[in-house]
Amino acid sequence: MTRDRIAGDRAAALEVRGLEAGYGKIQVLWGIDLDVAPGEFVAIIGANGAGKTTLLRALTGLIPIRGGSARALGVPLKGRSAATVVRGGVGHVPEGRQLFPLMTVRENLDSGADYLPAAKANAERNRSFVYELFPRLRERAGQLAGTLSGGERQMVAIGRALMSQPKLLLVDEPSLGLSPALSSSVFTALAQINAEGTTVVLVEQNVQRSLQLADHAVVLETGEVVLRGSGPELLAHPRVKEAYLSL
Ligand code: ATP
Repeated sequence: MTRDRIAGDRAAALEVRGLEAGYGKIQVLWGIDLDVAPGEFVAIIGANGAGKTTLLRALTGLIPIRGGSARALGVPLKGRSAATVVRGGVGHVPEGRQLFPLMTVRENLDSGADYLPAAKANAERNRSFVYELFPRLRERAGQLAGTLSGGERQMVAIGRALMSQPKLLLVDEPSLGLSPALSSSVFTALAQINAEGTTVVLVEQNVQRSLQLADHAVVLETGEVVLRGSGPELLAHPRVKEAYLSL
C-alpha cells in the first residue's frame, strides 16, 4: 500500500521516518523508516544489539526520539510520555515481561487498564478475552506473578497490554526463554490477537516463525534497516537464510 493511499484511507498504524535514538552519548538507531498499515502483522528481526528493543522503547515514549519523526495511529510520538502513548492506543509488551511479582495474576492484568477510564470500564470483558486466549491464567488468577513459570509470565505480560485495549500492540521478544511448545502457543495467541483486528509489531529472535506470520518485515543491523520485504520474500532471501535461519 502506498503512503498516499494510507493517508487517503485511515491513518497509518505506524509511520516512522528517519528515526534516531540512543542512550546518553551512544547513538543506537540511525534513521529508521517503517510503515505499518492498520491490521497488519509486522516483524522486526535482527541480531543481538541491532537496536530492536531500542526502537520499541523510542516508539513507546520510554526513551526520547532524538531525530526524525514517528506517528502512531495518526498522532506524532515525538516528545510524548509513555503514559500518553498508551492512552493513544499503543500497547507495549516489554522485553523481560516486567510484571509486579508480589501482585496476583489478575492484579497484574488489571494494572494494564490503570489511568485508562475507557479500558477500565471494559475490564471484565477484556479480562475474559485474555482468559480465553490463555486459559491457564484463569486458573492462576489468584497466584502471585513472581511464582509463575516463564511462559505463564509471558502470557500475563501480553494479557496486561491487551487490558489497555490497544489498536497497535508492540511486542518485544515474547518467545525468549520459552520451550518450543510454549513459544508456539504465544505465537498462536499473537496471530489470534491480530485476527481480532489489533495491529501487531513483533520483535523476535525466532525469525522463522515470525516471518511465517508477518505480512512484511524489516531486518535491523547496527541500528539501520538493511532489508525489508514480505515474510516469504525474506524467508527465501540468502542473507536472511545465512544470518538468521542457519540454512
Ligand atoms: P537483543 O536481541 O539482544 O535484545 P536488540 O536488537 O534489542 O538486542 P537493543 O537492546 O536495542 O538491541 O540494544 C542496542 C544497543 O543499545 C546495544 O549496543 C546495547 O548495549 C545498547 N543499550 C541498550 N539499552 C541501553 C541502556 N539502557 N543504556 C545504554 N546502552 C544501551
